[in-house]
Formats: sequence, structure tokens, C-alpha cells
Amino acid sequence: MKDQLEKIKEDALKQIEASDALEKLNEIRVAYLGKKGELTSVLKSMKDVPPEERPKVGQMVNDARAIIENRLEEAKASLAKKAREEQIRRETIDVTLPAKRNNVGHSHPNTIALEEVERIFVGMGYEVVEGPEVEYDLYNFEKLNIPKNHPARDEQDTFYINDNIVLRSQTSPVQVRTMEQGRLPIRMIAPGRVFRSDEVDATHSPSFHQIEGLVIDKNITFADLKGTLADFAKELFGPETKVKFRPHHFPFTEPSAEVDVTCFKCGGSGCRFCKGSGWIEILGCGMVHPNVLRMSGIDPDEYSGFAFGVGLERIALLKYEIDDMRLLYENDIRFLRQF
Ligand SMILES: [Zn+2]
Repeated sequence: MKDQLEKIKEDALKQIEASDALEKLNEIRVAYLGKKGELTSVLKSMKDVPPEERPKVGQMVNDARAIIENRLEEAKASLAKKAREEQIRRETIDVTLPAKRNNVGHSHPNTIALEEVERIFVGMGYEVVEGPEVEYDLYNFEKLNIPKNHPARDEQDTFYINDNIVLRSQTSPVQVRTMEQGRLPIRMIAPGRVFRSDEVDATHSPSFHQIEGLVIDKNITFADLKGTLADFAKELFGPETKVKFRPHHFPFTEPSAEVDVTCFKCGGSGCRFCKGSGWIEILGCGMVHPNVLRMSGIDPDEYSGFAFGVGLERIALLKYEIDDMRLLYENDIRFLRQF
């Protein structure tokens, strides 16, 4: 009996020694200490042991059990420690490896220019208003004092959805829609995409962007218009910038003017950029025509106002000295990365 116990104990310890996994240790526990395990079967054969020997044998079985259990626990702890060390070794981070490249995009030149213009006018108390790109002929032309057969329709030839609906050729219809709401005074800019049936070349595109501004209040004069646009030009192109107003004609304003700014490249002395003139044309403007006010339900004897329109692409091209408008639409990453 004693030899049998000794053998069981030694076998168990040997197997524990040779174990390299937790599952293996569990199997050993079951095989030796379990309900049907070898040590248990020794206890079951106690009935064959003479009664006076039983306490001694019982003690030996318990000792063997304690030793095996002890060794099992030690082996388990040692395996767990090894596994943890292995995990730590595997998860070591090599800080000398090159970092993963993070490809962050950035704003398109048009967007940068738009945000800049919006920042300037919002700073002067203007509201940014948007409107539909598909517009009624009524809002795009008629209510802007451009009746059917008006020659200005040729210059602004656009895409017709049907006789009454067009792709807007300017963002002015947004101004009409705002005036019609009748909440005065108005200080707004309307940025957005517009359409003309132009061929694509270095300075034209059938789809481009405008930012138009409108101010309506009592006692608004041409002096307000000049002061506002002079400030705008200084903010956009630098504090030394001067403005020049040249008389012009637009159907929706009277009087009307085109505005030039001193060339920000040469400061006005003349260079290749300004074609030697020292001036660069940037926008059109004027005092809102009484007919336009009247058609939107505003009394021109009580209220007056001014309006202006600037091409967003023109600002972007000037600001970044880009010489071909098509570059803005080609989405060539080599071009766009430069801004
Ligand atoms: Zn110049």
C-alpha cells in the first residue's frame, strides 16, 4: 500500500514537472485527485486495510494529496508568470519605428477665400444668407430689373430647366428673397454657386461662385458703399490698398460702378501681374435701383441701399496668384497641396 502510494505520488509529480500548459495541469488534477482519480481509488480500497493500520494509511494518502496539490499550484503560478512575461515581450513597442503617416486634407483655395470674405463682412455686422441654385426666372432676372428681351440676359445666358426655371446666373435672387421678407434694415452677403453658359477657358467656367452683398436702410448713400468696399479691400489685400470706382452699368443698380484695387504685387507702380496698370479689377457695385426695391415691396422714397458682387474664384486667383481658373476645378492633388 505504501509503495503504491509512493508510486502514484512520484508519477504525479513527474507529470506536473513535464507540463507546459494550464490545461495539462487540470488533466493531472482530475487524473490523480478527482472523484475517479488514483488517490481516491486508494481511499476506496481502505476496506482491505486492517483497521489498526487505517489511520496511518489515511494520513499517508492525505500527505500525498497535499504534496501533489502544492506542486500543482506552484506549477500553475509558474506557467502564468511565464505567459505574462511572454505577452509583455510580444507587446513591446519599438519607438524607433517610423510613425504611421497621417494624411490630413486641408481647405480648397475657394473655401479659404470664402471664409476670409465671410470673416470680414460678418465682422462688419453682415449676415450670411444662402438660397436655391435652381431658381425662378422671376427672381433671377425679372425682379432684378432684367425683363425679357433685356440685353443683359445675353451676358448672363444660363441653363434653362424650362421657360420659367433656370440655374441661377448670380446670387442676387437670394437678395430679392430676403428683401421680400420685409425685415428691414438688411445687411447680408449671399455666397454660392452660379451658372452661365460659358465655354471653359482660363478665366471662364459654366459653374463658378459669387459673393454678393446687400445693405438696405434709411439714408444709405454712395459714401457708405465706398467706405464699406474700401475697408473690405484693405482687410483682404492689405492696409495700403487703395480703391478706384469706375462708372459702369448694371440693370439692378443706379448709379453703378466697377471697383479696382491697387495691385498688391507692385503697390500700384505697375507690373506684369496688373499688366502695367497698377490696378486690378475686383468687383461690381452700385446703389440698388428703385425699381428693384419697389418690386420687392420696399418704398424707395423711404429706404435706399447698395449692392455689390465679387467672384469668389477671382479672389482666390488673385490672392494665390493662380493664372488659370481651371486649376481650381481639376482636383489635382499636386496643385491643391500648395495652399
Ligand atoms: Zn502690379
